[in-house]
Amino acid sequence: MSTITPERHEFQAEVKQVLDIVVHSLYTDKEIFVRELISNASDATEKLRHTQITEKDIFDADLDLEIQVTSDEEAGTITIQDFGIGMTHGELIENLGTIAHSGSKAFLAALKEGGERNENLIGQFGVGFYSVFMVADAVKVYTRSWQPEGESLCWSSQGDGAYEIEQVEGERRGTRIVFTLKDEYKDFAKKDKLEGIIKRYSSFVQFPIKVDGDELQTVQALWLKSKNDITEEEYKAFYKFQANAFDEPRFWLHFAADAPISINTLLFAPTENMEGFGFGRMEPGVSLYCRKVLIDSDPKNLLPDWLRFVRGVVDSADLPLNISRESMQDSALIQKLNKVITKRFLKTLEEKAKKEPEVYNDFWKSFGIFLKEGVTTDFTHRDQLLKLLRFESSYTEEGSTTSLSDYLSRAPEGQKEIFYLSAASRKAIEAGPYFEAFKARNIEVLYLYEPIDEFVMNHARAFEEKNFTSADSADIDLDAIAPETDTDKEEALEQASADELCKFIKETLGEEVSEVAASDRLVGSPAMIVNNDKMMTAQMRKMMKAMQQQSGEGDAAGEPPVKLQINARHPLVKNLAALRGSNEALAGLISEQLLDNARVAAGLMEDPSSMIQRNYKILEQLSSK
Ligand code: ADP
Ligand code: MG
Repeated sequence: MSTITPERHEFQAEVKQVLDIVVHSLYTDKEIFVRELISNASDATEKLRHTQITEKDIFDADLDLEIQVTSDEEAGTITIQDFGIGMTHGELIENLGTIAHSGSKAFLAALKEGGERNENLIGQFGVGFYSVFMVADAVKVYTRSWQPEGESLCWSSQGDGAYEIEQVEGERRGTRIVFTLKDEYKDFAKKDKLEGIIKRYSSFVQFPIKVDGDELQTVQALWLKSKNDITEEEYKAFYKFQANAFDEPRFWLHFAADAPISINTLLFAPTENMEGFGFGRMEPGVSLYCRKVLIDSDPKNLLPDWLRFVRGVVDSADLPLNISRESMQDSALIQKLNKVITKRFLKTLEEKAKKEPEVYNDFWKSFGIFLKEGVTTDFTHRDQLLKLLRFESSYTEEGSTTSLSDYLSRAPEGQKEIFYLSAASRKAIEAGPYFEAFKARNIEVLYLYEPIDEFVMNHARAFEEKNFTSADSADIDLDAIAPETDTDKEEALEQASADELCKFIKETLGEEVSEVAASDRLVGSPAMIVNNDKMMTAQMRKMMKAMQQQSGEGDAAGEPPVKLQINARHPLVKNLAALRGSNEALAGLISEQLLDNARVAAGLMEDPSSMIQRNYKILEQLSSK
């Protein structure tokens, strides 16, 4: 056996630069070195598998393709061995002594631009193999190429300016990396810690991984398989594993695309809305992989915020593996992914709504709130989202909903608006004064029960060019849309006495009302408050007021005056017109009471105490007769 003295090589200048930063960096995410080394081992094994297809003569042909990790906690050493393609002498110099690969190149390019902030750059890129020098001060790479004429070699370095290569004896095919951890990082040699890190980053590596002899449970990277080869049970099990979920997925979306970017995606809609349970705001849960290796488990901009309930995996072979969290946030690539995936997810929802309406409606009940949030925050997807909205209406049964398209398909020719009313319940809406006119003309009204709903209407403004209009708006001409169906209605006050009564009520109420007018929109109620400003519905007023109070402004500005409409056909109104001549004081009290009752119906009454006092006065007068 000839002893050959180790040959000493200087690292290429760029490598020295990288190493210098790696060794001295304060980068906190040290554990990624495990991911880098395991993915190199996996790449090398994968390459061997390809080589086996075309080459007959392969060294150590019968080795099992697995990755073995062993550690010695006491000595603080870790060994990562694969049985992949290995490296020849030339390849060692080329691959580990120079910077030929993309990740570190990008790192260096950024380094040149970055100037002083170099410290942080390592965190932004990860630097593949060299990352091991963050935690180790002596690294040996034993390797034997698959090529029959190869030799057993050992590459070693302390991470300073140089490395050595020497011949050794008896290596198996592949690569064995042995390194001694720096004192402060000895913890990484603990078996359970090591296992934990591997599970986190490398659960989907397709070769068995053994840690100190025990095979880790790896999971199939379902998203890369063809749909036809996956059972429903496998999808469900994968969801539970990936999302750490206790519920079942409602449905999933599994697709691959090549343009404009190569992606394999598997997304799940959960059954339970955890935010609905009051668990606080959900964190995004779609993980980003590059060829089965985890890049980021919860990237922030991969999907729009309103899709934060979605779970699953996005894998893009176009991502540089070495890219990492910090740099990804606003990369153009992430934006491209975001666009493609969001569009597909919305399309899936549309299809569900069409083909499996029960599935969609159930989904809507739990997750509709997120789509509503989307309408108010995401202009890009607004039109697609509007098609997915569902509301109860005066045409649906309690508990069933309609889409906006279906609403429009039922609307009479002349109807230019989509009408809605907000209140806490169907009962409250149908008992209120605003619904009467619509009911009398069979015009459909959407029922909005959630505080966010009016924001949705205000942000979207229109659907298919029909304006969303609150049914309590002042300027709605319902007769232009449809005539009242009930023809034998009460006789109304004469125009002149109606006008006089309105004038009287206005004088009595003073600044509290901006206008009092007779209206034929009312059927069974004597009066109602209407809104001049389409945006400023009663619900909005209430919300604005609550916000003012919160911000300490109180209601210093006072109540904005409201517009009161009276029903000239109502017996109370007709009586009031007559009462004015005989008992003006009582007529005044009743006028005030009319306004307050209308306020209650509009949800604008906050403190009823003065109303109650007045009510007693009225009752007192009536009971004395
Ligand atoms: P990258 O994986 O992005 O190419 P690395 O710094 O991780 O960059 O690795 C540099 C190169 O070293 C790899 O491209 C590969 O050719 C070689 N290499 C690293 N680890 C192994 C290994 N376990 N087996 C064979 N080749 C390896
Ligand atoms: Mg690598």
